[in-house]
This record gives sequence, structure tokens and C-alpha cells, in this order.
Amino acid sequence: MITGIHHVTALTSDAQKNIDFYAGILGMRLIKKTVNFDANHVYHFYYGDETGQPGGILTFFPYQGLARGRHGKGMLNTTTFSLATSSMDYWIQRLTKYNINYKAPQQRFGSEVFIYFEDFDGLGLELVFTDRDQRSGFTHGHIPPQHAIKGFYNVEIGQEGYERTAGLLTSQMDHTLIAERGNRFRFAATDAPGNYVDIICMPDSLRGLPGSGTIHHIAFATPTRETQDQARQLLVQRQLNPTPVLDRNYFTSIYFREPGGVLFEIATAGPGFQVDEPLDQLGQSLKLPPSFENDRAGIETALPPITLDFSKY
Ligand code: ZN
Repeated sequence: MITGIHHVTALTSDAQKNIDFYAGILGMRLIKKTVNFDANHVYHFYYGDETGQPGGILTFFPYQGLARGRHGKGMLNTTTFSLATSSMDYWIQRLTKYNINYKAPQQRFGSEVFIYFEDFDGLGLELVFTDRDQRSGFTHGHIPPQHAIKGFYNVEIGQEGYERTAGLLTSQMDHTLIAERGNRFRFAATDAPGNYVDIICMPDSLRGLPGSGTIHHIAFATPTRETQDQARQLLVQRQLNPTPVLDRNYFTSIYFREPGGVLFEIATAGPGFQVDEPLDQLGQSLKLPPSFENDRAGIETALPPITLDFSKY
């Protein structure tokens, strides 16, 4: 059983700039500072709300100096954040203050107002302004609580055509088509902000290329290990070759490539980010899985130093 989006993971070229952008300018909570479990000389940063609820967790692998990738087909090109309708002026002023270029507000599906911008690596982001979102976001940071990012709203995946990915989402992954307009097809497992997956048909575009400013994968949420095993069985039946279940400390995961080329993950909702540090200290120290602890000194030496100082934001 799939309930919606769990997290989205991107590639960045600079660890410190990444922290300053997402935790500083956007005011998300850095909920975990760890390393890539498959490449422990690289950090893995997790940003989210107070506790790191699925549906609003954006994570990054910082590869210092990594060349830029390219948006395009077969890639998740835009990740959007959900905000209150009354927050639009605040955020326009904030983007302007930090010299972030943004496109004029646009509208889709009738009432959905959004602003497109990019981070310093060119990662595609949007702010969506809506009164449909009851989540509160990270309200103990430096952004006024009423203007805090509540989590994701939707993600946007570019494809040659939408049918094959749509078939996977609807047949094996509990999604339904809930809206369509032009070349945009919106799917959701749960019809609520934070779970919308938009597939954009862009047959005339180039294929995306991995690199900084691109999304590495998207993870969907499943409640338990048992439901994860069931989801895995369905993928095996569809011959999508999912990986075995991998322990990611804060959840367990399986990975597979969907027919359009995007790397998908299915992650359990728990145990969550408080398994190795208390709520009030999330993200402050480098956390390693037990199997890496013996090599902590070596790992720390290989990582670039970073500071967490948001006083100027
Ligand atoms: Zn992941």
C-alpha cells in the first residue's frame, strides 16, 4: 500500500550553500545531518518540518563542485512547496531580498497560484499558495509561523508520454488520476497537498541529464515493513526489478526505475528521525548508522566543514 510522497532527493554542488539556502532562506528545519549510506564520504542532508513528516522531506547529496545537470524528459524537474494564500506577499519580498529570480505568479487547475524559482544549482522549485493545507510546517524557526513552508504540494515529472508511468502509479502504486489539463496529468494516492504527482508530457524536450540541480529520486510512503513487502511483490510481478529492502536507519527502502526512467523508492513511514537523537536536537550533529561508527573519525575528515548559523536570516 502506497499512501503518498515520502521524500525527494536532489544533487547539489555545495554543502554550505545548500544549508544556507534551504534552512536559512527557505527556513526549513535541517532534521538530519548524516552521510550517503552508499557513499559515506558524501553528506546526506534532510530538510523538513518540525519532525520530518513524509510529504515534506527534501534531501540532498552534496558533491562539492559537481557539474550541473539538465532538466528534461525522464526526470523529476520541479518540486513545489505548500504555503498559505496569505503568505504570497511575504515570500515575494523574501525571494527579492535574497536576489532569487522568480517568475511572475501563474495559475493552474483554476485556483492553484504558484511562483517558479530555482536554487543556486538550478534545481526547479515552486511555491504554491493554497488554503487547502492544514499542516503547520516548521514553526519554531526564524520564518514567522504563519508563513512557514508546510511541506510539499506536488512534484512534476517530465515524460515522453504519460501512459506507462501512469499505468504503474495506478495499477501497482495505489494512485488515481485526479486532474488533467493540457499536457499535465495529476495523480495522487491521497488527495491532499504533499502527495500530488504531476506527469508532464514533453515529447519535444531533450532527456534530462543527472548533475547538480537535478533530482536523484523520489520516494513514496508506505506504512509498514509488511505493506512495503506487499508493494515490492507487485513490482516484481511487473518485472521492475526492485532492490531488496535496505535499512536507511530512519526508514527502510526499496528502489526501482519506473518505465520513463525516473528512480523511484518506496520508504516506510517509520521509525522516523528521532531514533538516534531527540526532537529538540534534530540535525545538529553528524549522525552515522551503527555500521559506520568505527570509522567516524575518517568519515568526518573526508567531509567538508559546515556551519549551522541562521542568525542572519
Ligand atoms: Zn531516498
